[in-house]
Amino acid sequence: MTYAINPEWRTHTTFDVNSENDGLEVIIGGWVQQIRDKGKLIFLTIRDQSGLCQVTLHEAETNSNVWKTCKDLTIETVVSIKGVVKADPRSKLGAELTPSSIKVHSLAALKFPIDLTKKKTQMDIDTIFRFRELSIRDPKVSTIMKLKNIIAAEIRTFFKLKGFTEIFTPLILTASTEGGAEQFHIDYFGQPAVLAQSCQFYKQAALACHEKVYGIIPSWRAEKSHTPKHITEFWQVENEIAFATDKEIMQVQEDLIVHVLEQVKKQGAIHLVELNRIISIPKKPFKRISFNKAKSIILDLGIESNPTEDFGATEETALSQAFEEPFFVTQFPSQLRGMYYATDPKNPELTLSLDLIAPEGFGELSSGGQRVFEYEVLKNRTIQKGFDPDNFKWYLRMFKFGMPPHAGYGLGFERLIRWIANLPHIREASMFPRTPEIFQP
Ligand code: AMP
Ligand code: MG
Repeated sequence: MTYAINPEWRTHTTFDVNSENDGLEVIIGGWVQQIRDKGKLIFLTIRDQSGLCQVTLHEAETNSNVWKTCKDLTIETVVSIKGVVKADPRSKLGAELTPSSIKVHSLAALKFPIDLTKKKTQMDIDTIFRFRELSIRDPKVSTIMKLKNIIAAEIRTFFKLKGFTEIFTPLILTASTEGGAEQFHIDYFGQPAVLAQSCQFYKQAALACHEKVYGIIPSWRAEKSHTPKHITEFWQVENEIAFATDKEIMQVQEDLIVHVLEQVKKQGAIHLVELNRIISIPKKPFKRISFNKAKSIILDLGIESNPTEDFGATEETALSQAFEEPFFVTQFPSQLRGMYYATDPKNPELTLSLDLIAPEGFGELSSGGQRVFEYEVLKNRTIQKGFDPDNFKWYLRMFKFGMPPHAGYGLGFERLIRWIANLPHIREASMFPRTPEIFQP
């Protein structure tokens, strides 16, 4: 692996310090993750994006300038090191580097506040996120983010192969959509505005332009939820399909999940090993259970539950733990769903809506359903929900001018990452998470 950045600084990654390259002269560049100074012997652990390698210096065999420089190194200093790869079965990676020269690019201050050599479980979670710009140097963070990269790329590949068009919707919206208290209010040149909670109305509008749309789009929710499933800034995999029904968007989600998991197993095998995560591909079709059935499963588990209320956090977790593969909850009562959900023609008390739930206690991944597309029906639903139709002028107007029947859903991107990577908390799925307490760095 050769990097053409500056041959003086780096021609190889630490990954190349392996037994196959025994005897090869290389220049690596990276961060000093660990220093073990044994007096006449120094072991350095150098980290770069490819991994870790060991540099071993014996005083008697090392050029005095190199020795002196290495004696003064600090944790997280950025260096380039030239040396010869030496196969050594005692070393974890089967080889180490014997240095002949070293360049210090940036000597790090004492003392680096994060101990990257500690096991994550031992690290205090507060420190990790207070110094997040430093703690992302943890190779585990890089592993999660590499997995996230594969997943984002494969979501795009999936939709592209199926003929969908990616959309980019506005994120600053006029105050007064359905959101209410959960909106972050901002000042837009003296006018009240909010950060988008979802792109719902815009992806529906986009159907008249493209018919089959998707996007990975940011959302903000001003909820003071302290759960392992909530952050205040998150992204959703948004999908909306003209001429589709609730049944079809369940199939699309099954195909999407299976595609992503297959690709994660294929391209991300090494990351899964590092995260100690075993993934099995769920069988299609995923189970579908009605809202009422889900409520009875929850009651059977001995958990208190009001049959007419949406799932509380405990209910959702327990329901999710009762399954080993993702499943859909369908037929949510009309009073629990947004005004844009179509109702069941056989029973207007129920909607043609669904949530995709991850197994193992990870909970809800997506919400969606078939939409109302008839102007009068939508206007009445808006009024029934207690909203003033005047606040939804442009949204309602477009339904007067020919909107197709359609269906769609929004799938929480960080929730998906959390489930696939088996993370204890959703904030680990974000490089710089936002929670009610954290909004810097
Ligand atoms: P909703 O429209 O509220 O059902 O949100 C759609 C999807 O976004 C949900 O199914 C979740 O996967 C995800 N989501 C909603 N709220 C949050 C949050 N606070 N943090 C992370 N993901 C969320
Ligand atoms: Mg939902």
